[in-house]
Amino acid sequence: MISAQPATGEPTVPALTMTAAFEGIEGSYSHAVLEAYAGRRGVTFVPVGCSSYRAVAHAVLSGRADLGLLPIDNAIAGTIREGYDVLAEYELDLLAEITWRMDHRLLGVPGATLAGLREIDSHPVVLAECGRFLGGLTDVRRVPVPDTGIAARDVAAEGSPARGAIASADAAQRYGLIELANTIADHPDNFTRFILFRAPAALGPASEFEPAEDFGVRKTSLVFAVADTPGALGRCLSVLGAHGLNVSKLDSKTRLGSAGQSSFYVDVDGDVREERFADALRELSEVTVALHVIGTYDASAAPPRTRRAPVVVVDNAPAVTPKPAKNAFPKVTRADEHARARVAIGDIVVGDGHFVVVGGPCSVESREQILATAEAVAAHGAVMLRGGAFKPRTSPYAFQGLGWEGVSLLAEAGRASGLPIVSEVMSVEQVERMAASVDVLQIGARNMQNFDLLKAVGKTERPILLKRGMAASIDELLSAAEYILAEGNPNVILCERGIRTFETATRNTLDLSAIPVLRERTHLPVMVDPSHGVGVRRWIGPLCLAAKAVGAHGLLIEVHPNPSEAKSDADQALTFGDFERVMEALAQVPQLA
Ligand code: PEP
Ligand code: MN
Repeated sequence: MISAQPATGEPTVPALTMTAAFEGIEGSYSHAVLEAYAGRRGVTFVPVGCSSYRAVAHAVLSGRADLGLLPIDNAIAGTIREGYDVLAEYELDLLAEITWRMDHRLLGVPGATLAGLREIDSHPVVLAECGRFLGGLTDVRRVPVPDTGIAARDVAAEGSPARGAIASADAAQRYGLIELANTIADHPDNFTRFILFRAPAALGPASEFEPAEDFGVRKTSLVFAVADTPGALGRCLSVLGAHGLNVSKLDSKTRLGSAGQSSFYVDVDGDVREERFADALRELSEVTVALHVIGTYDASAAPPRTRRAPVVVVDNAPAVTPKPAKNAFPKVTRADEHARARVAIGDIVVGDGHFVVVGGPCSVESREQILATAEAVAAHGAVMLRGGAFKPRTSPYAFQGLGWEGVSLLAEAGRASGLPIVSEVMSVEQVERMAASVDVLQIGARNMQNFDLLKAVGKTERPILLKRGMAASIDELLSAAEYILAEGNPNVILCERGIRTFETATRNTLDLSAIPVLRERTHLPVMVDPSHGVGVRRWIGPLCLAAKAVGAHGLLIEVHPNPSEAKSDADQALTFGDFERVMEALAQVPQLA
């Protein structure tokens, strides 16, 4: 009985205890419900674990327990018929409905992983509630056991990492299990309705367990059977409706031993002691072949609704044995912090602590133009000469470059100035001859994803200056480099040259943030081309300095004897004087290791 236990010593403080029966053992959901219920009332809970629903009723009726608790309905799995049947079968005084969120966790022994499980134990209703999650696991047996607490206890006792249990977080704690996954029920609104009851004759000092007298929010569970005739059920529901009684649940099953008849389990909002209820029951008895009031009890408040949450597989136990992520860039990835490629062009080294400047016109236009430019840039410290002979131009009517003649002029200027030469190769057919004519093969931004061209230059032994495509991500730039390395040519220099953004104030948006990113991700040297990046002469100087400061291994700068007359990219070419000043300023900028 709910009893006042005399405390030892003085003064005597009565300690209320609540002896309550439930199916299962400690760590089961019923146990947690009762513990919380007792906690809210400030009384001590004495658990009486039982082996079946019937045994719970017997414990209460025999006086072994003051209270009993049985589940009757789950939001996902539906009616728990056995709960209703036991409550209907025995003469019990129903007290209250308790709605409890079933927050299921998949548990295993320490060291277990989700991928390693071969068996999962739980109460059959709980297994049903997690059907979707379990459906996604292959080669895992689902084993129904009487109770979630028992499932957790037995998994812990066996100690096998191949066996898991679905139970509460409380069960995990109690039995020393770890959580392998949570929010695994098919829906987070996974509430189970339990009924708390006592023996009908129970009397005691614990008035807090008395039903509310004012019929606050009450509910009544009925079971009735109707004849196998059209409209029979409808008539029953009409009676309830006519008396203003709301049916909150209706469930049916075949009435055993009465062919063709069905039993209906009905929950109605209201208390049987209300007059309208008494009237309704009288009328109901006239349209049913059997009618039984299971009980009337305090209704629980509607539980809060939640949005569906994804199953969370807990970190310590990945859902599948993690496959090492396949590195999409095995050859260009920087293996360790010391790995830095050196690309040698004659005795010039690009990368690995060296800083180089390549200068020259956008296009080779004439013998005089390229010879003069070569001499000027060499005088001011450039270590290579650039110049386009095959020009990728947006307009087919724009100057297309001098072609092979331009290549020979560039080669002559290179020899005259002692500078190695860099020029763009635009097609696979040009590769062999260009490789024989220039020191560095440039792949232009528009060709960064011309994979045949990448493969062709990858087969040569020439260093490659690979420019970032104007709409290419860093990953795509690295993939393009990977193409070249995959063909056997390790000598690739990456070049950031501005990308297309919404910004129109500059020709492109020079992505200087790509430099530290690339330095981290790849061992390949990274150069910056501020000329095409910003497209405006006066802004090129500051960007050269910034590029060096953030760690570029070199610069590619367009220089022209008379920029206003340049046949391509006139707006961005530096004069020889500009170039000289930039080179002087660059000498003041510290270089990153
Ligand atoms: C160039 O450097 O001459 C050139 C055409 O550059 P991009 O490919 O970056 O446009
Ligand atoms: Mn250009």
